[in-house]
Amino acid sequence: MIYVTKPFLPPIGEYEKYIEGIWDRVWLTNNGPLVNELEIKLKEYLSLDHLLFLTNGTIALQIAIKALGIRGEIITTPFSYVATTSSIVWEGCEPVFVDIDPHTLNIDPKKIEAAITEKTSAILATHVFGNPCDIEAIEIIAQKHGLKVIYDGAHAFGTTYKGRSVFEFGDICTTSFHATKVFHSIEGGAVVTKDASLLKEMSFLRNFGHNGPETFSTVGINGKNSEFHAAMGLCNLKYITEILAKRKLIWDTYTKRLSHARLGSIQIDTDVVINYSYYPVIFESEEVLLKVIKELEGHKISPRRYFYPCLSTLNYVKHYDTPISSDIASRILCLPSFHDMSEEVIDMVARIVLRAINN
Ligand SMILES: *Cc1c(COP(=O)(O)O)cnc(C)c1O
Repeated sequence: MIYVTKPFLPPIGEYEKYIEGIWDRVWLTNNGPLVNELEIKLKEYLSLDHLLFLTNGTIALQIAIKALGIRGEIITTPFSYVATTSSIVWEGCEPVFVDIDPHTLNIDPKKIEAAITEKTSAILATHVFGNPCDIEAIEIIAQKHGLKVIYDGAHAFGTTYKGRSVFEFGDICTTSFHATKVFHSIEGGAVVTKDASLLKEMSFLRNFGHNGPETFSTVGINGKNSEFHAAMGLCNLKYITEILAKRKLIWDTYTKRLSHARLGSIQIDTDVVINYSYYPVIFESEEVLLKVIKELEGHKISPRRYFYPCLSTLNYVKHYDTPISSDIASRILCLPSFHDMSEEVIDMVARIVLRAINN
């Protein structure tokens, strides 16, 4: 079976070296030396001021919302993974969905202002498939209305905007290092901010609210990650240049093979260097999409309807009419893309897609 993605694994000996160190120190979790080393190396690699390594990308979103003291309504995108919306609801806030731009698939800033009410306190938007949101337009709106901005950068590891890591933008940017993401630590995630006091607040939140061995500054949660996860992150970070280069090669190969099919894709701004971590294709209709899926599954290839369903249709949120997101969600598919994918397999997937479309 070929799945939409397959985690990268480093040579096992490299992981074992780190594990031996853990055995020597008998320090398994609670801000250990490997967690510290990973945070330092990630900040170096991405040129960031502040980053905290956390259990996962969902806790990162929840900690970001909590740390900024956000209440009431949060303007968000209906086209993302469910964690973007569920974190808002879990934190006792209300998601207000604003439709997406049909070309970038990110929240459409032109539609944000009409959704602002006196209860709005923040914008939480996803850099979909690693493609940055319209950061500058969102910043102008946020400033004008005094709103906080959180970006869900779960897809965006390695993406740059005007030469800077896309994680630098917004009050807080969160990310995920889950095994299915382009850079992973098995489970893991992070929060990034430029604000040192906000970072400190989030480091308390990550550790039950402790601000000393016997004192608590606030209600916290357990968002700490372990030495074992940090070890996997440290191993994988050594290969990130290769991993990103391979994703670009896969993207370019698919694009060549599928060039005559006139499939929709995402529009990438000239100021952006994207990480190419997903290969989304937009079909003419849901009917064609279902035909393609059936054909691929017949060949033991499992693509993924990503993102589907549209989040404004979840049973625990107020419903909003987001026709562009609903339409795109019904006919978009991510084709397999993973590090050890051979050219033959890319060619085979492309041939099957072409055959299904033309039938
Ligand atoms: C994967 C993902 C998350 C959740 O990250 P986890 O580390 O799996 O908790 C959140 N948002 C988006 C857009 C994602 O793709």
